[in-house]
Amino acid sequence: MTQSYDLIVIGGGSGGIAMANRAARYGAVTALVAAGPLGGTCVNAGCVPKKIYWNAAHLAGQMKMAGEYGFDTIEPRFHWEHLKQQRDTYIGRLNDRYAQGLDGNGVSLIRGHARFSGAHRIHVGDSTLEAAHILIATGGHPVWPDIPGAELGITSDGFFALESRPRCVAVVGAGYIAVELAGVLHALGSDVSLVMRRRHFLNDFDPMLRESLMDAMLRQGISLLAQREVRELEKRADGLCLHFHDGDCLGGLDAVIWAIGRRPNSADLGLEFANITADPQGFIPVDAFQNTDAPGVYAVGDVTAGPALTPVAIAAGRRLADRIFGNQTERHLDTLVVPTVIFSHPPIATVGLSEAVAKEQYGEEAVKVYQTTFTPMFRAFAAEPEKTAMKLVTVGREEKVVGLHAIGDGVDEMLQGFAVALRMGATKQDLDDTIAIHPTSAEEFVTMR
Ligand SMILES: Cc1cc2nc3c(=O)[nH]c(=O)nc-3n(C[C@H](O)[C@H](O)[C@H](O)COP(=O)(O)OP(=O)(O)OC[C@H]3O[C@@H](n4cnc5c(N)ncnc54)[C@H](O)[C@@H]3O)c2cc1C
Repeated sequence: MTQSYDLIVIGGGSGGIAMANRAARYGAVTALVAAGPLGGTCVNAGCVPKKIYWNAAHLAGQMKMAGEYGFDTIEPRFHWEHLKQQRDTYIGRLNDRYAQGLDGNGVSLIRGHARFSGAHRIHVGDSTLEAAHILIATGGHPVWPDIPGAELGITSDGFFALESRPRCVAVVGAGYIAVELAGVLHALGSDVSLVMRRRHFLNDFDPMLRESLMDAMLRQGISLLAQREVRELEKRADGLCLHFHDGDCLGGLDAVIWAIGRRPNSADLGLEFANITADPQGFIPVDAFQNTDAPGVYAVGDVTAGPALTPVAIAAGRRLADRIFGNQTERHLDTLVVPTVIFSHPPIATVGLSEAVAKEQYGEEAVKVYQTTFTPMFRAFAAEPEKTAMKLVTVGREEKVVGLHAIGDGVDEMLQGFAVALRMGATKQDLDDTIAIHPTSAEEFVTMR
C-alpha cells in the first residue's frame, strides 16, 4: 500500500529535521526517512563530538597556564575512554531529544534508506511513500584516497569511533577538519604530524589566519609536513608507514586519519527516477529557493554545493518550510554573510570576504584594511605568549565592513554579534562609535586604527 503525505523529507540530519519540524508545525502531513542516527553528521560524527574533544583540549591548555596564575603545577592524566563514554551518553540524549521533537510535532519517522521510484514517489524497504513535496537532505560522507593501503587508515568517522588515544598519528588534509583534529589530538597528548599537499592549509581563508595558526601549531610542537603527496599506506611491525611521492616516508604511526574532503550522498538515491541530474561532483543543483530541476523536489545542506555548515542547512530547511507551507512566497536563504569558526588552538573566527577576495571584487583602491596583533591579557605571564590577530576588511569611502577575521583565545564566542553588524551593513565608523568593553580582546575590534 502507498502512504501519502504533504511532505517527505529524506535524511534525519540538520537540514532534514529542521524542515520536517517547521513544516509539520504549519500543519503539513510530514514523514521523515532516516537511514542513520537522528541528528545526522553534526550530532553524531561532526560538530558535537568534535566540540566535546575541543573543550577537553582547551581545558588541557588552561591547566598548563594555571601555574602562571599561582596554582601548584598540575600534571593531569587524561582518560580518553572516560570522555568517549560521557560523549556517547550525551549524544544518545540528543538522539532521543530529536525523536521526541519529531514526535511532538506529529512527524512520522520512518527508519531506512530512501530511493526515488518516481518524481514524487520513494521506496523505503518494502514501503512506498508519495508526496507533492519531497526534500533531499542526505548530507555527505568523507572521501577515502585512492591509494594502496588506504583502508588501513580512518576518516573523521573512524576518529570519533576511536576507543583509545592514538600515541602517534598523522592527519592527512588541509581543510578545517584536518586542522581541528590535529589540534585536538596534540593537545590531548598525541604526537601529531599534519600532512598536506600544498604549502599551506586553509587555503580559502584570509592568509593572516592560516599564517598565525601555522606559527602557533609549530610552536606547540605539531609537525607540519607541507608539499607531501601521499602514495601508499603500509603496515609494518612498528606501526603504519605513510609513503610520499618524493620517496620519503613517515613511520611508527598508530593511526592515519584521512581528512581530504567530503562528497555528497547522492549516488544511491535513484535521482534519475525524479529527473534530477547531480553535477560532476555529485552535488544536487538548486536555485536560491532550494528548488531542484524537478518541480516539487528540493534539496538543502551538504548534498548541495552551498557552505557545508549545520546552521546553513537548518536555515535553508526552515526557510523552505516557511515558503512552501507558511505562505512566505519570497522566503529563501541568503548565504552572503556566513560566519564560521574553526575550532583550532587558538580558534579562528571569520565572516565575509578575505582581503584578497575583496580586492578582486572591489578593486585594490577601494579596499582599506585594519589589522592588529597583540598578546591577550590572559596570556601576559606566559613565557611564549600566544598572540591574537584581528583584521577588518572595509570597502568604499564609507568604509563598509565586508570582512572580519580573527585568531586567538575567545574569538569563537566573539564572532556571532559582529556577524549581525556585518549583515546590517556596519561601517568602520559604526564600530568606532561603539563603546568598548574593557579589558577584553573583543574591544580591539572597535578600537582599531
Ligand atoms: C568532523 C566534522 C566536523 C564538523 N564541524 C562543524 C562545525 O563545527 N560547525 C558546523 O556548522 N558544521 C560542522 N560540520 C558540518 C556539518 O556536520 C554539516 O554541514 C551538517 O551536518 C549538514 O547537515 P545535512 O542535513 O545536510 O546532512 P547530515 O547532517 O549529514 O544528515 C544527512 C542524513 O541523511 C541520512 N541519509 C543519507 N542518505 C539517505 C537516504 N537515502 N535515505 C534516508 N536517509 C539518508 C544520513 O544517514 C544522515 O543521517 C562538521 C562536519 C564534520 C564531518
